[in-house]
Amino acid sequence: MKEPLVKTEHLRVIYNQGKSNEVRSLEDVSVEIYPQEYVIIHGPSGCGKSTLLYSIAGLQMPTYGEVFIEGKKLSQMKPKEKVKLHQTGIGMIFQAFYLIPSLNVIDNVCLPQTFLGVNSKTRREEGIMLLRRFGIAEQANKLPSQLSGGQKQRVAIARSLINNPQIILADEPVGNLDSESAQNVLQILKELNNIDKKTIVLVTHNPEHLHYADRVISMKDGRVISEEVIKEKRPESVVKKELSSEPLEISNELRLLSRTFKSLTAAQTGVLLIPFKAKQMLVHILSELTNEQLDGAENILKELLFKNINIPEMEKNLDMAFEEGGAGWNKLRVKSFSRRVREIMDQAEIIKSNPEAAIAVSDYLINLFNLNLDEKMKLRFQSSIKMRIENKIDQFNLKQRLDSPKVLGGIGLYKVTADKIVREIELLMLLKYSA
Ligand code: ADP
Ligand code: MG
Repeated sequence: MKEPLVKTEHLRVIYNQGKSNEVRSLEDVSVEIYPQEYVIIHGPSGCGKSTLLYSIAGLQMPTYGEVFIEGKKLSQMKPKEKVKLHQTGIGMIFQAFYLIPSLNVIDNVCLPQTFLGVNSKTRREEGIMLLRRFGIAEQANKLPSQLSGGQKQRVAIARSLINNPQIILADEPVGNLDSESAQNVLQILKELNNIDKKTIVLVTHNPEHLHYADRVISMKDGRVISEEVIKEKRPESVVKKELSSEPLEISNELRLLSRTFKSLTAAQTGVLLIPFKAKQMLVHILSELTNEQLDGAENILKELLFKNINIPEMEKNLDMAFEEGGAGWNKLRVKSFSRRVREIMDQAEIIKSNPEAAIAVSDYLINLFNLNLDEKMKLRFQSSIKMRIENKIDQFNLKQRLDSPKVLGGIGLYKVTADKIVREIELLMLLKYSA
C-alpha cells in the first residue's frame, strides 16, 4: 500500500494551556495527504488552518498528537533531519511573501541554496531558470519593493522550489493579490502539481479557489468537518476502506440530478457545487459567445451565486471590457441574459420554499415556451412537473410524459419542446439543490 506523505494523528494545539486566555486552535485533527495530491484546507478565519499547516511544517509543536512525514514522526526527528526537511523536503509560501527587502530577486530565490553549499554559478543558473519559467526573469536584479504583489509571490514560489522539495505548503498565498494575479499564481501552483508532480497543501478561506484542488478538507472551530474529492489520487485500498467504513449517503434527489449532470458527484456537493451550478446555468442560457466572454461571465455568475455581488453589479460587470475585469458583452445581451438569470433564480427559489411550487413553475414554463394547453392537459402538465420536483421521477420519465401522445396519457408536446422544458427543470432542480 502506498503510504501517506503527510499524516497527522489526533493533532491538538492549545495555546496558553490552563490560563485564562487558553485557545484551542486544533481539536483532534487527523488527516492524510498522499504523494502528488493537491489538497486545499478550507474554512473561515480563525478555524485553525494555519496552525495545521505550521504543525505539518514542523514550525508549530502540537500539544497532543503526532505529525508523520513519510511515515516518520516529526517529534522524533533529530535536529539535523529537521533542518534537512526544511531545506529540501518542504517548500513554503506565505500570504505576506516574506522576501528579504535588502536582497535582489535572484538572491532571494537562491538564498535557500546558499545554506546547502551549492556553488554560486550553478545557483544563479537554476534561479534564473525558475524566474524565466514564471515570467519574471527581467526582474532578476530588482529589489522586492520594485515588484507588484503578483510578481513578489512568483519570486516566493521560485524560492520555495529552488531546492526541489517534494511538498509545497502555501498559507493563503493569494490573500493579498488582486483577482487576476491571484488566478495567475493559482495556475502556477496547479501546474507544479500537474507537471512537476509536487504535492501541494494550500490553505484558503476563499471558496472560489477550491476547484483547483484534488481534495478539499473543510475545517471549523479547530476540527475537520468534511472532505470533498474532485480527483481521486489516493491509493485504491485507502479509498475503499474509507467508503466501506462510512458509506456516503446519496439522496434520491442527488441520484436523479446526477443522471442529467453526469459530472456531478456526491463528493462535490458542498462549496464546489456553486462553480458547477454557474457553469451549467451559463451553458444552458447561451452558447454562442467566445471562450473569453464565456469564462468572464462564468466567474461573474459564480460571484452572483456566492452572493458576493447582486444583479445590477452582475449586469455592470458583464458589460465591462476585459481589460477592466469585465466579460466584454454588449448591453443588449446583458439585458436579456440578466432577465433569464432572474427568472431562473426566482423559480429555483420557489421550488425550494413553496409547497405549491409545481403550479407556479408550470405557469412559468407554459409562459416561457408558449405552450397551448387545454385545462385537462394543464393539469397533467402540473402533475408531471410536481412529480419531478418531488423527485418521484427522473428527467427521462418526465420527458416521456411530456412528449407521449395524449391518448396514451401524455401531453403530446413536440420532442424539441419537451427537451427544452426538461432541461429548464433540471437546471432549476440543480440550482435549488443543497447537500
Ligand atoms: P486560520 O489560519 O484558520 O485563520 P489560525 O490557525 O491562525 O486560524 O488560528 C486558530 C486559532 O488559534 C485562532 O483563534 C487564533 O486566534 C488562535 N491562535 C493562533 N496563533 C496563536 C498564538 N500564537 N497564540 C494564541 N492564539 C493563537
Ligand atoms: Mg491563517
